[in-house]
Amino acid sequence: MPELVFFSGTMDCGKSTLALQIEHNRSARGLAGMIFTRDDRAGEGKLSSRLGLVTDAVEVADGQDLYAHVVDHLSRGGRVDYVIADEAQFLAPDQIDQLARVVDDLDVDVYAFGITTDFRSKLFPGSQRLVELADRVEVLQVEALCWCGARATHNARTVGGVMVVEGAQVVVGDVARSADEIGYEVLCRRHHRRRMTSASARAAALSPDVLPVTAT
Ligand SMILES: [Zn+2]
Repeated sequence: MPELVFFSGTMDCGKSTLALQIEHNRSARGLAGMIFTRDDRAGEGKLSSRLGLVTDAVEVADGQDLYAHVVDHLSRGGRVDYVIADEAQFLAPDQIDQLARVVDDLDVDVYAFGITTDFRSKLFPGSQRLVELADRVEVLQVEALCWCGARATHNARTVGGVMVVEGAQVVVGDVARSADEIGYEVLCRRHHRRRMTSASARAAALSPDVLPVTAT
C-alpha cells in the first residue's frame, strides 16, 4: 500500500540528508521521483543537505496544486514512482491534502520532510496537516543536541545571538550571519523555556554576578 509518511524533527536532525538518501536509493533501483521543496538553503529549485549533497527539485509556489503538477507530468508521458517533499513545514495545508490525494488516487508513495514546530514552539500549519493526515509519522533518530548536551527538541530564533519569541513564523535565515541578523539554534525544552542560547550561556558563565546553571 502506498503511504504518506511524515519524517519530522528539529532543524539539524538530518531530514534533508535522509531525503537525499531515499532519492539516491530509489533512483539507483530505476525508480523515478518527483522532488518538491521550498526555500531550501541552496536556493530555488534545489534540495540540499548540510553535508554538502544537492539535487534538483521543483520549487513550490504559493497556491500551486501539487496533485495537478504530478498528474500533468504523468499526462505528458512522465513517470512518477514516488514523491519527496522537503521543507514541508513551508507548504500550505491545502498542499498537504494534495499530497495525500497523490497517495490515494495515484498509488504513489509520498515522503514529506519537515520541521514540526516553529521558534515559538507552535506547529507550522503544513506540519500540523501532515500530523493529521500522514499514514506514519517518523521522528528522525539522528538527534540534534542542545549546547548543554541534552537532546534538542525545540527550534529557537536568535537576533544577534539573543533568543526572540515574537516575529513572523517564516523568516528564512542566511547561513552566514552578522551580529544583528536572524539565526536559528536548536535547544532542549528546558533551555528553550529559559531562552538560554549557547551565546547567552557563555555570557552567563563569564559573568561573576550570575550563579552557574544547575540542572533542575
Ligand atoms: Zn539544553
